[in-house]
Amino acid sequence: MMAHLIDGKEISLQIKEELKQKAIEYKERGIEVTLAVIQVGNDPASSVYVGNKKKACEFVGIRSLAYELPEETTQEELIALVKELNERADVNGILVQLPLPSHINEDFVIKTIAPEKDVDGFHPQSVGALSIGQKGFVSCTPAGIIELLKRSNIEIAGKECVVVGRSNIVGKPMALLMLRENATVTVCHSRTKDLKEVTKRADILIVALGKPRFITSEYVKDGAVVIDVGIHRDENNKLCGDVDFADVEGKVEAITPVPGGVGPMTIAMLMNNCMEAIV
Ligand code: NDP
Repeated sequence: MMAHLIDGKEISLQIKEELKQKAIEYKERGIEVTLAVIQVGNDPASSVYVGNKKKACEFVGIRSLAYELPEETTQEELIALVKELNERADVNGILVQLPLPSHINEDFVIKTIAPEKDVDGFHPQSVGALSIGQKGFVSCTPAGIIELLKRSNIEIAGKECVVVGRSNIVGKPMALLMLRENATVTVCHSRTKDLKEVTKRADILIVALGKPRFITSEYVKDGAVVIDVGIHRDENNKLCGDVDFADVEGKVEAITPVPGGVGPMTIAMLMNNCMEAIV
């Protein structure tokens, strides 16, 4: 069987093109959508992510304000900046790049962001709203996966969906979103007994467990749809996911590649959230 490749690069480009039009309409109404991005310290991976976000803002026509703070910034200083940005009428979205240095309490900082500017969707109020079906920002990676499925015409309602991983930024919000889309949802984690037995029930298998090429064909039902959230560099410095793509590909109906699957969708959905921050 030839698996359909779910092209996240192409779909994310479509979304960004749509958002570009929206930004033009906003500009005609005198509104300049603005995202403030705060990075503390210079973790190289974080710098790459922040750089990519800035590039996406430029593409879409969102103004981005970069705050690059030194590693030794105190929690009080960071919180003072977040509060100042909360108050600024010309700032619509605030993003604090994680991880923060260990002397800063991430939960506390996230809680300080005004929920109406919480474009990452990590504030407890945003997560609470998602869990009871109210309006609020949704974590970008899981929101991007829903877009990938919908724009690939993959039906979700009534399907058996298994999510592997229960992190606050991917697994948990993913499960809530699939539930909202009327899937029957099972969430697996490191204490799940007989993972294979569970994942093999999935019509839609979403993998975010953080181990390179962990999911092989034995974990997957014939004709399933497989979404791979993982990003790793293998022993040859090649990018790969949590799914053993070469092993699984022949068995499934559709699958996301790594790179070019879920990754590009995360930033596209961040741009979408910034646009939705305009009331
Ligand atoms: P975390 O490490 O926070 O969570 C991993 C989850 O997987 C945990 O819930 C853990 O269970 C579970 N798990 C670990 N090992 C097993 C196992 N052997 N069997 C079953 N469950 C297991 O990771 P994240 O959710 O933050 O990220 C997951 C992956 O996705 C990473 O590779 C990350 O780099 C990538 N990622 C990609 C993004 C993108 O834009 N494409 C965005 C965010 C992440 P337990 O809770 O019991 O410990």
